[in-house]
Amino acid sequence: MPKRRNEELPLDIYIPFVQSLFRDSVTLAVGIAAQSLLALLVYFKTSDTIYFVVAFSIVAIGYMRLRSTREVLNNPISDRSEARRLENIYIFWGTLHASALGLFCFAGIYLAHDQFAEIAAICVTLATATSIAGRNYGSPRMVMLLIITLTMPISAGFLLRGDVFHVTLGLLSIPFFFAIRKFADNVRDVLFAALWEQKKANQLAARFDRALNTMSSGLVMLSQEGRVVVANAEAANLMQVSGPDRLLGRTLRGLLTRGAAGGMLSQKDSRYAEAQLTRALREGKDRKVLLRLLNGRHFEFSARESKDELGVITFDEVTARVEAEERIRFMARFDSLTGLPNRAYFHELLSERIAGGDQERTVGLAVFDLDDFKSINDTLGHPVGDGLIYLVAERLGAFADGNIEVSRFGGDEFMIFFNDVKEEQEFAALLDGIFASLHGDVDVAGHAIRIQLSAGAVLSKARSSDVDAMVVKADLALYKAKENGKNGWRLFEAAMDQAFRNRQVMKADLRQAVETGNLRVVYQPIVSMETMRIVRCEALCRWDHPEIGPISPSVFIPLAEEMGIISEISSFMLSAATAECAKWPASLGVSVNLSAKDFHSHDIVRKVKAALDKAELAPERLEIEITETALLNDKSSTRQYIQELKSLGVRIALDDFGTGYSSLSYLHSLPLDKVKIDRSFLLDVTKDSRSLELLKGIVNLSRPLGLAVTIEGVETFEQLKTLAREVKPDLVQGFLFGSALTASGIATMSNTTWPFAAEIHGTLANA
Ligand code: C2E
Ligand code: CA
Ligand code: CA
Repeated sequence: MPKRRNEELPLDIYIPFVQSLFRDSVTLAVGIAAQSLLALLVYFKTSDTIYFVVAFSIVAIGYMRLRSTREVLNNPISDRSEARRLENIYIFWGTLHASALGLFCFAGIYLAHDQFAEIAAICVTLATATSIAGRNYGSPRMVMLLIITLTMPISAGFLLRGDVFHVTLGLLSIPFFFAIRKFADNVRDVLFAALWEQKKANQLAARFDRALNTMSSGLVMLSQEGRVVVANAEAANLMQVSGPDRLLGRTLRGLLTRGAAGGMLSQKDSRYAEAQLTRALREGKDRKVLLRLLNGRHFEFSARESKDELGVITFDEVTARVEAEERIRFMARFDSLTGLPNRAYFHELLSERIAGGDQERTVGLAVFDLDDFKSINDTLGHPVGDGLIYLVAERLGAFADGNIEVSRFGGDEFMIFFNDVKEEQEFAALLDGIFASLHGDVDVAGHAIRIQLSAGAVLSKARSSDVDAMVVKADLALYKAKENGKNGWRLFEAAMDQAFRNRQVMKADLRQAVETGNLRVVYQPIVSMETMRIVRCEALCRWDHPEIGPISPSVFIPLAEEMGIISEISSFMLSAATAECAKWPASLGVSVNLSAKDFHSHDIVRKVKAALDKAELAPERLEIEITETALLNDKSSTRQYIQELKSLGVRIALDDFGTGYSSLSYLHSLPLDKVKIDRSFLLDVTKDSRSLELLKGIVNLSRPLGLAVTIEGVETFEQLKTLAREVKPDLVQGFLFGSALTASGIATMSNTTWPFAAEIHGTLANA
């Protein structure tokens, strides 16, 4: 709050102060009349001209003052200089007026002393003094000048009288006038404070108004009687009235009814909004109500009421948000490439469809899967793959009707749901029809592609249908169709389910066996052709199922790979094999089989190293067996990890050579030490000369590359002799030398020389 000096007053306070000086023209006129009348009376009594001069001056000055008062009342003051000019005029005439009264007193007391003149002058002056606080408080300068011009002549008059009584009177009149000044100050303070508060209130109201009417949200405040007491421009806008004031006094129901009548809202929505908002206002909760106007715009209303206060309803247009949400919802439900319902939404749709209608009816589900789609993607690129998917989706989509629902399940898989299947034959004909429509060559971006699909289907009573179960069954049938040579469809049969269930149970059991370390390791001897003594052993994993008994690794290893737990088995095998090998004579090494999946992560290098370190085994004694598929999968990183293993000193053997890609041309580019030839080559080597030539060829090609050769699956002495004579591999492995043994069995056997060694030596020497 500024000080009271006029210079520092804000204009909007200064102007009312100046106006306050001119306000009371009636008392001024009465005062002038009384003063001039008394002065005239004194003149008549004393005949002293000085009183006539006083009376005349007061009339003349009074006239001027009243004139300026009228001027101010008729013309509002607009700026500071105008205010200042008027204040100065007021001060000028006011000072003259006071001076005339001062002269009246000075004359009465001293100059032309007269008993009546003295009393009259002092009475008039004191009466006038009251106006100092009453009318002139608005101008501190005026107050000061009035006090001086009124006090001085009285005090001077009394002092000049000289006697002790008058001198005392003269001195005492001074504090009286200063008390009057104090009163004037107080009045001014009060006025100032009032004006200041009003100014603040106005400012606040203006700001509030501005905030209210520029905010993007609409706002309506309701009194406790439920009538609008505040509304903003946005609210007026929505209600299509010219200004917020037009909304005042209306009720919520009135507003909504108006909205409905104006075709903005449906009757139903209007009732809904009223119920919801009224409830929100009553409960004082932050409740949001979303309304869709008939013109497609969306508004979100929220209501708030804290007890004993005004209820507030705000609203925002949320059309953009709602539309975005709808788009997202669409994207979440429909496949972006084909526009067909996606897996999740299809599931939702099906659950709904199946639950509705006659529960005794039969429903059907078919899963379609493009054959060898991966190779199209790999060879022709994803855009062509996408093009093909789009084309298939288009053709399948054409079958969709009230009864048939089509979805893209992901990748190259499509699902078709049949809501009401009357007969199995009819269903089969339908599927054949779909197949026929898809078959044939198509052109995708200039590539002639033959569409080939397989499908699995399942039928079920609606009453007992579960979407997930149907999907699983259709999938099982699809697998069977693929197994049967692709390009056809199969209907689900109970036997498939049994196989599936067994597989699921076995998976769970395997997981538990791996987690609890319920696996065993056995070691199969690998024998040197030259010495006929064991040089190393292959570690093979064993799982004894508590109910089924031993399960072949050819069964559970692929399961573990599928389940993603093969690396746990590999770790187990690595640490067991290295630990056992460390106990054997130093001439014996150990071989461990790793899966292609082990080479998906660099972890494998760390694991091998950790196993060697823990067992304190020389790296040269460990051999890793990997199959061609592992090498071909993801060449660069697999090669890199193999290279890193090799740098550790570990040996690398290529397992099952001849069963996979079987190209010798790439052998030299891989960091290998050994090739293990699959036992299938040995099956009829004693009878079929072509098999023998093949074996010889592989050995002869491997040798120059610095690769040792192991031949697996040697079961008979006959085979061994043939190998010794014709093929001369470095190592042999097979049941002839025993099946896999426990680790301690190997330690005992390490010194064994087979009885037929001499004969083989002879054969080798003769060859
Ligand atoms: P593989 O690596 O080729 O292992 C040799 C398999 O041939 C073993 O079968 C072995 O018992 C069998 N075998 C050895 N000599 C003969 C023979 O003279 N005649 C016949 N008919 N078979 C013979 P097993 O133990 O059933 O293992 C099968 C496959 O399971 C293995 O083939 C290997 O690929 C995989 N496997 C076994 N243990 C592991 C393991 O710890 N990790 C990984 N990743 N795979 C393993
Ligand atoms: Ca092996
Ligand atoms: Ca093998």
